[in-house]
Amino acid sequence: MLVPMKQRFDVLILGAGASGLMCAAELCCNSRLRIGVVEGNATAGRKLNISGGGKCNITNVAVSQEHFLGECSFVRRVLEQFTKEDLLCFLHDHAIALELRKSRYYFCKRAASDVSNLLLKRARGARFFYSCNIVSAVHESEGYRVHTDQGDFYARRLVIATGGESFKHLGASRIGLELAEGFGLQSRPFSPALVGLTLQKEQFWMKELSGTSCRVCIKVGARSMEEELLFAHKGISGPAVLSASLYWNKGDICIDFLPHKNLHVFLHSKKLLSTALPLSKRFMKTFLEHIGLQDKPCHRLHAAEIERLSQLKSYCFAPAGNFGFSKAEVSRGGIDTAQLHANSLMSTQHKNLYCIGEVVDVTGELGGYNLQWAWSSAVVCARQICQSS
Ligand SMILES: Cc1cc2nc3c(=O)[nH]c(=O)nc-3n(C[C@H](O)[C@H](O)[C@H](O)COP(=O)(O)OP(=O)(O)OC[C@H]3O[C@@H](n4cnc5c(N)ncnc54)[C@H](O)[C@@H]3O)c2cc1C
Repeated sequence: MLVPMKQRFDVLILGAGASGLMCAAELCCNSRLRIGVVEGNATAGRKLNISGGGKCNITNVAVSQEHFLGECSFVRRVLEQFTKEDLLCFLHDHAIALELRKSRYYFCKRAASDVSNLLLKRARGARFFYSCNIVSAVHESEGYRVHTDQGDFYARRLVIATGGESFKHLGASRIGLELAEGFGLQSRPFSPALVGLTLQKEQFWMKELSGTSCRVCIKVGARSMEEELLFAHKGISGPAVLSASLYWNKGDICIDFLPHKNLHVFLHSKKLLSTALPLSKRFMKTFLEHIGLQDKPCHRLHAAEIERLSQLKSYCFAPAGNFGFSKAEVSRGGIDTAQLHANSLMSTQHKNLYCIGEVVDVTGELGGYNLQWAWSSAVVCARQICQSS
């Protein structure tokens, strides 16, 4: 169905994902502006609804700029204006029950769709155009014109909330970067992040452990992440690896398979290596074979053997690559924050052009940080639009 010609709005939001929905909801509840939302999918919030296994890890106990890849002071200033406490209050006031997992991660108790439904209800004053694909946008004298496969839209203010490139089957695209480019904004290309890592031949021993997991500490540059590592058929995955992938481009990562444990304490034992160490027998046998050590009583190890075994505390190698956009929870990269105001997410070059959510060059670690970014950036943008209209 083609939209009638000359659809005019005060604010047009591109994308009805987490950030677009929150922005529409805030605008509708706090202004009388005419809001339009253009979405390529047939429904809103598809990625949000499947996030966190359908219960979305909505935020984290400890939200701060250190958990994000992006310009620190910009991220801090945006997060400060709509904090995780503000989010928790908002959800509490609207009877969205949460549960805390591992004393850190807030998940929806029932379903992530409770959040998208709440936002849709609050955004009911907006007009939603579904199954409508954005093609391009231009700045005109009175505002912005957006060209879609269903016709053109006009608006005084334009909010780009089209997200990143991962999970294309849920509607993801790189249109946000194309639009930015059209407006002369700098951006960093998207690349897969929060994603499993593939292995070079020398580390194929890990594939033999496919389906098992262990708690590790992974170091990437100056960052270190302690969580579960999952050995997978394609490589390594699990929370520790996903978070590490955010900071890895190429080169070595180092894995400590015995975090907080001193290897030497176990080496006085008369037990076999495969049973003395607090790692699974299957892991130890595979690892020993890889480093060419016999499974023998710990106290009989020679100095050179102990040296080889000490790789358990710092196993360094260069991953081959990652599992790609189809498996990546987020896309690293996006529109450069140096060209956005932190108190509004408005472009410094184009008045009334805003960029929010994952399309911005800010990416969080695993643990609810990316949704918190989507909420905070959306609310900051909506508040500024309300104040200045
Ligand atoms: C499997 C998975 C699990 C995740 N789990 C979590 C989690 O538990 N916690 C967390 O914090 N983060 C999680 N994330 C990340 C989080 O979902 C995203 O960071 C967040 O949804 C980004 O919000 P957004 O509004 O910027 O983008 P999106 O929610 O992706 O919304 C962008 C919207 O724009 C639309 N769009 C794109 N291109 C076009 C076009 N050309 N025309 C029209 N419409 C278009 C898309 O269809 C989409 O609806 C997960 C991601 C995935 C893939």
